Amino acid sequence: MTFDRIRVLADGLAEEVPDLRCLLESVQKSSGSRRRLRRLALRAANDSKEASLVRTLRDQLSPYTVNVPSHLRGLSLAERWDRVLATSEEQYHHYMLEVELVNRLNAATFSRCEMRLAFLPHCLHDQSVTCKSVVRGEDHMCKGCSKMCVLNAVSKLLRRHRVTPYIWMTANLRSLLRRLHKEGKTVAVLGIACVPELVRGMRTCMHAGVPVMGLPLDANRCARWWGRFYPNSANLQELERLLLKSEQFDDC
Ligand code: SF4
Repeated sequence: MTFDRIRVLADGLAEEVPDLRCLLESVQKSSGSRRRLRRLALRAANDSKEASLVRTLRDQLSPYTVNVPSHLRGLSLAERWDRVLATSEEQYHHYMLEVELVNRLNAATFSRCEMRLAFLPHCLHDQSVTCKSVVRGEDHMCKGCSKMCVLNAVSKLLRRHRVTPYIWMTANLRSLLRRLHKEGKTVAVLGIACVPELVRGMRTCMHAGVPVMGLPLDANRCARWWGRFYPNSANLQELERLLLKSEQFDDC
């Protein structure tokens, strides 16, 4: 399981660098340059900590990113300028670790915020039915029209944990967070998305000082990657684990 592997990797790194924020910053910095990461991955003679992390992540996580090289080869010249679409395999590995580190950093504060909002990708809806979601509050909300729909199951789980689930269609995250901050509300965000989009959203929240947690989708299957939508899924057990972990701190 990818999640277990990433947890073990993060545990090992946290023993070496107990300051999680410091560790997160170095992982984020490393992930900035695709070319540099590739060079570090290929130069076995480079025994710096950064290079050895790149290689460890590749060894542990590459079974989960086997389709990335062929996806990158298939990009048009224009698409290669799109930083999300052109995310390299090494960047994926760093981003997966980044999500885990941010989740650890924010678990305690997440459940203490008075507003906890989740933004879910519309690609998870049951494509065999016409989605009956409605605009309510900050964005669209699931009306539970299909028992087979992943968004339905995810929304129910989130509500049980006192998180308000929105299907992310129209909300502008930056301006929403600014407005809620001005209204004096303490707000936390949970995102579910493909790895590169998730990291972008989580960074936006972190920059706004908002406790954020995230769950990567099981795969990238949306139209941006494939030209059309394919059914996708999210790991409900991992989602519940994340929420329970955060709630553990409620009594502290
Ligand atoms: S269950 Fe919810 S998200 Fe799924 S198709 Fe129906 S309204 Fe849309």
